[in-house]
Amino acid sequence: MIRWSSWYIHTTREIPADAEVVSHQLMVRAGMTRKVAAGIYSYLPLGWRSLRKLMDIVRREMDAAGAVELAMPAVQPAELWVESGRWQKYGKELLRIRDRHDREFCFGPTHEEVVTDIVRRDVKSYRQLPFNLYQIQTKFRDEIRPRFGWMRGREFLMKDAYSFHAAPESLDATYEAMDAAYRRVFEACRLEYTVVEADTGTIGGSSSHEFMVTAATGESAVVHCPACGYGANQEKAERAAWPSVGAAAPPPLERVPTPGRTTIADVSALLGVPADGLVKTLIYETDRGELVVAVVRGDREINEVKLQNAVPDALHLRLAPEERVREITGAPAGFAGPVGLRGAAILLADLSTREMRGFACGANEADAHLVNVDWQRDAAAFAGAARWLDLVTVGEGDPCPRCGEALAVVRGIEVGHIFKLGDRYSRAMQCTFTDEAGAEQPMIMGCYGLGIGRTLAAAIEQNHDADGIIWPLPLAPFSVLVVSLTPKDPESARAAEALATSLGARGLDVLLDDRDERPGVKFKDADLIGIPVRAVVGGKSFAAGSIELSLRRDREKVAVPVGEAEARLLDLVDRLR
Ligand SMILES: [Zn+2]
Repeated sequence: MIRWSSWYIHTTREIPADAEVVSHQLMVRAGMTRKVAAGIYSYLPLGWRSLRKLMDIVRREMDAAGAVELAMPAVQPAELWVESGRWQKYGKELLRIRDRHDREFCFGPTHEEVVTDIVRRDVKSYRQLPFNLYQIQTKFRDEIRPRFGWMRGREFLMKDAYSFHAAPESLDATYEAMDAAYRRVFEACRLEYTVVEADTGTIGGSSSHEFMVTAATGESAVVHCPACGYGANQEKAERAAWPSVGAAAPPPLERVPTPGRTTIADVSALLGVPADGLVKTLIYETDRGELVVAVVRGDREINEVKLQNAVPDALHLRLAPEERVREITGAPAGFAGPVGLRGAAILLADLSTREMRGFACGANEADAHLVNVDWQRDAAAFAGAARWLDLVTVGEGDPCPRCGEALAVVRGIEVGHIFKLGDRYSRAMQCTFTDEAGAEQPMIMGCYGLGIGRTLAAAIEQNHDADGIIWPLPLAPFSVLVVSLTPKDPESARAAEALATSLGARGLDVLLDDRDERPGVKFKDADLIGIPVRAVVGGKSFAAGSIELSLRRDREKVAVPVGEAEARLLDLVDRLR
């Protein structure tokens, strides 16, 4: 049992000017954290208790999944990063430092290099594989604009694990075990979460999943299927095949004047054709000056990640300037279409347009559009040369690619990310083993990250109201708050103390608010710090022989006889576990 009066909790009514998100505001107000420098925070006792509870859950599940804990240094020598090729590539997010001998180091944002260096010195044979090493440790990423408190700090706590294998099937098994362990962690924390397929992006590798805590205030959009559980982040999400339509040919192609109408809405209104009957043509330019012409259905948004993935060897794809648009269309911007382009370009067509018959599109001529366009009859050159692929952002109500039911879009905060790395690091750093046939091979690796501070911030984003935090019990700094309402009244003060002590003796972590403060202050602070179960001892209710119990989530008060309070509190805590 801990007494508030002799512990360290300093709440504040002030919201710091740089606290843009609610979790950051509430953590500062509740006295969980204080900023030391931009993106660098102290974990105050209340915040540290919650962090330790989360770390205990994470360690329990990692150990149960067969991972082995170690601790690697925060400061890492440059040589290892030069070997992996990341010293140059990582950019300014890598905090580089020099020691007194002018040797270069970095403060590690991640530990692939260090763990690979450890393993290559110790492990030589397939008989010593596989294994999975993890740590919970402080990392540093020199974000250009650190924000959102613990959600995107520069210095942060993270659980990272690295597995090493002789064969891909062995990596698959560990990857599945980590996926299951992560699910158990978030379930044990009583958090709503979703698992989505992620783009492997610059890390490479064959497979990657993100774990997102859902919250209306979340930073990323996630597509998921309530029917079958399919999930993907919006950059990656796919939909079921577009339905085919009748094969009947439309009436003959017509050119229609559309003076000054360059937007889908304007053209749609003038022609009386709905947006899903229009084909939108977008023209991009690569860093090498090639043009990329992409067509999508008029009511859909092109997804620039999918577009970039469609032209993987071109960097920095951007919308082409007016003169380049004229070069290929012969018209000002806003009148491009797939019929009669004049010049070479990479042609891409979204699958949404393939089944369209008799669509409208720009005429590649100022102030004109075409209607009744048929791919085979009128635009065969484009249709034949284009690559047909998925280029649009999947949205609410699109059919699921697995089961066909309507997809939903939810917002979330990424708290975990697992990757099949393959041999990217082991090959670059010669982390090899001898296989059964005696041949030397690079080890196959997986890596598994889980943001510790970030998960707590996400828990608050998901669980709060206007008055403060509503901790899920497993992450709460204390399970029960006993409020001694009238500490100057010896009888009620003794009863509060006795209740808190005896709950503590039963194994609960209890905070006793024994401060000499007005009831209003105590209740405001109690709501702010968000301890899930509350017992109020004192005042009229105590004079009538009872103690008031409530849950932070609904704040509905129940008065129970003093003698029954302990049993009722134990029961309430049990139900929240
Ligand atoms: Zn589905």
